Amino acid sequence: MIKFLDLLKVNQQYETEIKSAFNQVFESGWYILGENLKRFEDEYARFCGVKHCIGVANGLDALVLVIRAYKELGVFQEGDEIIVPSNTYIASILAISETKLIPVLVEPDVRTFNLDPTKIEQAITPRTKGILPVHLYGQLADMELIHQVAKKYNLIVIEDAAQSHGAIANGKRSGNFGHAAGHSFYPGKNLGALGDAGAVTTNDDQLATTIRAIANYGSEKKYHNLYKGINSRLDELQAAILSAKLRLLDEESAVRRKVASMYLAGINNSKIQLPYWDRTENHVFHLFVVRVKDRGNFQEYLTSKGIQTVIHYPIPPHKQIAYEEWSGLSFPISESIHNEVISLPMTSVLSKDEITTVINVLNEY
Ligand SMILES: *Cc1c(COP(=O)(O)O)cnc(C)c1O
Repeated sequence: MIKFLDLLKVNQQYETEIKSAFNQVFESGWYILGENLKRFEDEYARFCGVKHCIGVANGLDALVLVIRAYKELGVFQEGDEIIVPSNTYIASILAISETKLIPVLVEPDVRTFNLDPTKIEQAITPRTKGILPVHLYGQLADMELIHQVAKKYNLIVIEDAAQSHGAIANGKRSGNFGHAAGHSFYPGKNLGALGDAGAVTTNDDQLATTIRAIANYGSEKKYHNLYKGINSRLDELQAAILSAKLRLLDEESAVRRKVASMYLAGINNSKIQLPYWDRTENHVFHLFVVRVKDRGNFQEYLTSKGIQTVIHYPIPPHKQIAYEEWSGLSFPISESIHNEVISLPMTSVLSKDEITTVINVLNEY
């Protein structure tokens, strides 16, 4: 069986570093808000090229905290609208609803599956206050065009950078393209912890201070509460593990691109539509997603040949029961994408043989 994602194998690359991180944290006797978190925050901020990184409990919290902080600062109000892609993982949208703002869905570019900048303007109303682009599957959204619209309408840009750690365009990293960004270090992400973890990055001093306080019960000083905050912290153990893995992230991304190049060069079957990639470092291939019309059959075929696949994502957000108020809306591009996408095995630990097997099996379909 060729696994979709062999997480044990991924983490075994770091076995020595992870075990020594565990020992160091265990023996320090200090498990929350300590030196390891501070070090990781500094390292990840430097990596992204931003002034501030705030470690939080997970990627959803990271996005929620950015929006909450903008509310505390008077930039957003309840009922304001945020534009978000209509095909994304539900967390991008949940972050907006959770903070009592209104997600306004906009269709993606059919080639990149990322928010289509040319469709944003028609969705803008007097209540629109922000755009939340998602760098889906690890490929950066067209941030230049998104910023042009944002500037024109004075909108805040919040990146969902959960899938795009380390991606680069015009010399800038994912997490440094907006006013703030939410990152996830869920174990399966390109930079993954051994549990839940996330971070916010920003160049805005005031926003960073506010997020830090809200994430820690709303207090900057112990037992003095400025906000009705939450508890959302990145613990010392996860921070130490992430520091160890961050050192090799660029190398891992390079290997993922190599795997993608092999798939793109080797897969040649008119029934299978390959992903678009401009061959730059703007894609870190969190996922390698192909489109197939009869996806059900295709997935069964791959399973029968010992190739594990996953669908990201089977149901578009506007068709989810949680958002039944949107059930009458129509987003044809997103609907067809959700009906046809399927993700092939993609990690930095796939062997050449495994990659060749995947290619051959796909070509024989
Ligand atoms: C994983 C993910 C999130 C949420 O991250 P968690 O750490 O699981 O909360 C948000 N947005 C996108 C696009 C993701 O893939």
